[in-house]
Amino acid sequence: MSSVANKLANAAERDSSEAQALISDIRKALVEIRSVAIDFEKDGNSDKVQNLETAALELITSYEDCACFAEAIREVPRVYQPSNQRTDFKKLIEAEASKVKGASPAVQNHPLIRQFREAIWNVHHAGQPMPGDEQEDIVMTSTQTNILNVTCPLTGKPVIQLTDPVRCVDCRHIYDKVPIMHYIRTKKSPKCPIAGCPKVLQVGRVICDSLLHVEIEELRSSGPSALNATNIEDFTDLGDDDDNNE
Ligand SMILES: [Zn+2]
Repeated sequence: MSSVANKLANAAERDSSEAQALISDIRKALVEIRSVAIDFEKDGNSDKVQNLETAALELITSYEDCACFAEAIREVPRVYQPSNQRTDFKKLIEAEASKVKGASPAVQNHPLIRQFREAIWNVHHAGQPMPGDEQEDIVMTSTQTNILNVTCPLTGKPVIQLTDPVRCVDCRHIYDKVPIMHYIRTKKSPKCPIAGCPKVLQVGRVICDSLLHVEIEELRSSGPSALNATNIEDFTDLGDDDDNNE
């Protein structure tokens, strides 16, 4: 990496971690709103629940903007091309942000608002499927806000215990940083060690993205039931085929 690229990468890291702090606060606020709404729902106060849902939607809109911005900033060092013309970074960031935005789910279908609605629904209808939900579930579990694997495939360590987690930009699988970097550097064609995942890993594309810590924190705070739920789509393990060279 040239020194300009290095400086850019450092600046991007700093800026996106500020955005990440804001994102993390918004998520915490959403958890608060949800628990207040659950209490209102228990008391049959559906007007107030409705108001809180509206507030949650607004927060999620800001959250998405912020998340897009953070992702976009991270992309800048990758898309930046040195030239003798002055670079319009504002334009560069905006272009990246709209790319990211195009890929994110509509606010009305956002996983976070679904979590909210589900929590409210469960107050009186625990165990019953939410109306109009049957098909959507499948789509939702593959969105980018999900933690796809709950243990590192190399070390078997639970993701919530990793001090240095990283995630593959392409397949979204999560690993312990030091072992996965070693794995990538020492294999000729370092396939993602999650069984069945066809992606080949590259150092620059296995990173601690702006949402990773937030999502891990959420997983941690949502307790054991959420861990089980996540396990269903976790096709991990078989971590010991490490020494098979491909
Ligand atoms: Zn993978």
